[in-house]
Amino acid sequence: MARATKTRSSKRGPMKGEGRAAPRNGSPAWAIRRARGVQVAESRALGKLGWLVHGFSTRPGGASVLDGKPALNLGFTDWDERERVAANREKFAAALDAREMPLVTLRQFHSDVIHVAAAPCTEAPKADALITGTRGLLLGVQTADCVPILLADTRRRVVAAVHAGWRGTLARIVVKTLGRMTMEFGTRARDVVAALGPAIGRCYEVGPEVAQAFAAQFPSAADWFDGPFEQLAHGEEPLWLPWLTMMPPGHVLPPPRVQLDLRASNRWQLTDAGVPEKQIAVSELCTACRTDLLFSYRREGAKTGRLMAVIGIK
Ligand SMILES: [Zn+2]
Repeated sequence: MARATKTRSSKRGPMKGEGRAAPRNGSPAWAIRRARGVQVAESRALGKLGWLVHGFSTRPGGASVLDGKPALNLGFTDWDERERVAANREKFAAALDAREMPLVTLRQFHSDVIHVAAAPCTEAPKADALITGTRGLLLGVQTADCVPILLADTRRRVVAAVHAGWRGTLARIVVKTLGRMTMEFGTRARDVVAALGPAIGRCYEVGPEVAQAFAAQFPSAADWFDGPFEQLAHGEEPLWLPWLTMMPPGHVLPPPRVQLDLRASNRWQLTDAGVPEKQIAVSELCTACRTDLLFSYRREGAKTGRLMAVIGIK
């Protein structure tokens, strides 16, 4: 994915390359708001809903230090101190003007388990999606390449935060979250506004097992992959086999790779479930291409931070 230009220094500057799903009046679907020394990415569509608070955190600022720079690490990682992460979470909440809202986070494990929160949790539940219809709770999911998805039912005033890596995407966690909202709160897909935040883009390399799993689950899977998807997914004569015979003895070519656009799959799943396309905002910011602004596990390894996407009812 092309490296986007740096965000402007204005207080609420539009992000270059963030024009997809732009509203009719032409203003950008995404913006970065600067507050308390940090930058918060916001979906314009969710921002217009005065009854909720939301935001996608970014890297700069904060009490943690990565590569000699202050970083807003919001996850309790091995390399960072708990106190710094707690201070960062405070700062992020303050930037959202949501310091009084108890934060509910998860012990995420790439599942399709959904937790419905009605009160603050003393211990983080083991799940990968959170739903609430209760006022005053801030729901948060943590990512460093995976797709953070925020949902808001504008009619029933119910919100959700979803963590979707390739396993969660394959398991249709976003659709299951919508289904659970319908079951518990009577949500209709057509009333839902969705924002798919910063995540690894079309540079996300995956192997044949992922291509095969997606091909077996989704008829339109090919649309979300770059590279020799058909060969990998359907076990056709691999294109790379002739090259193998040309290799000197002892040298083995790595298996071919394809690139998977996780956000494209989740976007398709939402529209397939009945959420109108114009109500889905998809960030184009790539975590792996923009480590100046975001965190990427794939690009940086274990010693990187965690971004957080939060949503709550005021
Ligand atoms: Zn990228």
